[in-house]
Amino acid sequence: MSEQDVKKTSEEVLISANEENEKKPPFQTPKGVHDILPENHDYHTYIKKVVRHRSRQAGFKRISTPIFEFTEVFKRTVGEASDIVNKEMYTFLDRKGRSLTLRPEGTAGVVRAYIQNNMKDLPQPVELYYYSPFFRYEKPQAGRYRQFWQFGFEIIGEKDPALDAQSILISKKIYEDLGIMDSLDLQLNNIGDVESRIKYAEALKDYYYGKERYLSEDDLMRLEKNPIRILDSKNEDTMILNQSAPGFEEFLSKESIEYHNEVKEYLDVLGVKYTENTKLVRGLDYYTQTVYEFWDKKRGSQNSVGGGGRYDGMIELMGGEPTPATGFAMGVERVIAQMKRMKVKVPKKDNLHVFVAQLGKEAKKKCLPLINELRDKGIKTMGALGKGAIKHQLKLADKFNVPYTILIGLTEVRENTAIIRDMRVGSQTTVAFDKVVDEIVKRIGEDKLDFYDPSQPI
Ligand code: ATP
Ligand code: MG
Repeated sequence: MSEQDVKKTSEEVLISANEENEKKPPFQTPKGVHDILPENHDYHTYIKKVVRHRSRQAGFKRISTPIFEFTEVFKRTVGEASDIVNKEMYTFLDRKGRSLTLRPEGTAGVVRAYIQNNMKDLPQPVELYYYSPFFRYEKPQAGRYRQFWQFGFEIIGEKDPALDAQSILISKKIYEDLGIMDSLDLQLNNIGDVESRIKYAEALKDYYYGKERYLSEDDLMRLEKNPIRILDSKNEDTMILNQSAPGFEEFLSKESIEYHNEVKEYLDVLGVKYTENTKLVRGLDYYTQTVYEFWDKKRGSQNSVGGGGRYDGMIELMGGEPTPATGFAMGVERVIAQMKRMKVKVPKKDNLHVFVAQLGKEAKKKCLPLINELRDKGIKTMGALGKGAIKHQLKLADKFNVPYTILIGLTEVRENTAIIRDMRVGSQTTVAFDKVVDEIVKRIGEDKLDFYDPSQPI
């Protein structure tokens, strides 16, 4: 108790403590992480359905890798000089002193799984998708969290510009299905092979040397370790400086230029529009050749809703045989925010059909099996099983916005009947108890029932 509190009466202390509590409950989520409340789960469910549908159409199979891996899995692939490895990983030692990391991204784990499970023996390419949470120790702000969800896919085992074009098309289709593609711009680049990147990095160093005073502390570090990453800086002064920096195009080999032209030809055939951005780089070091991102037309790189590209060197880097690959990842929270900005509503199936109101223990004995049977028949049912006046229960039924309420009181128990109340018009009918389920099914309509049929394929 503080000195000030001593002067207060015990009641005052209690009240002020309660007021404090009202302001902020004692337990809060850590900074940068959030509950997904039912309203946002509707978006997640919808997005998951859309991505699953598009993934299945393309023959992708779902994979879930563990939430944590040995730290080396990420260090080796994402790159020692990347922001992720440098400062964004949740790394900890387990009880035996082994270094583990909460996965900051999806590709490294999938590649580790590809090698560990000998997926090279499967027909190639192996096409996998995931929908999972990821963890990065970032400065939390709108669209940037410490736990966030990504949908992503990887196509491992084959290389062709046509595959790059096809991956881009699938991601674009998903944004279209989600109703946000009109607000997005597809940015496309080719970042060449390792040799071109070494040359390009040197040219960038020459460009930034002498301009250090405009660079942030982070960008100064990038200048030494990995100058190409400066192009992805979100620092305003650096972004202005970046506009006049040399682009990738001058440093690409003949093969890369040809590869890039072919990707663009296929995109044209598919009618996919893109913006060439010779300074587009990705946040992870493992990319080669084709890279792309989907940006909000108004906000640009600040609000990338997803991106991907080719990472041909990674499987070998992880101890596998040299194997080409390409992949894509989409930030689910940013997509939800974009859907809300674009006023895209998600259709939902959560609405209840029936509310069961009862009075007394004998009524409850009839209601419990009735609720069970209604649900089995595909009627979404909620029962008021606590105590409370019928009037109160009807008010509750109103709040749940159900079309029908079934009422069973003392009279109905005695006469073996039930009342069906149509909540929209307020009319009531009494029916024999053993006819209630049939009557409700008839009124809701067979086609509206929510059935789980275990014999159907998943
Ligand atoms: P940014 O440049 O915005 O930091 P990134 O290049 O680090 O993004 P990727 O690693 O390519 O992002 O991840 C793919 C997508 O995941 C991003 O386009 C974005 O939509 C989303 N994403 C990345 N980091 C976060 C985060 N901290 N919180 C929410 N979404 C994120
Ligand atoms: Mg980032």
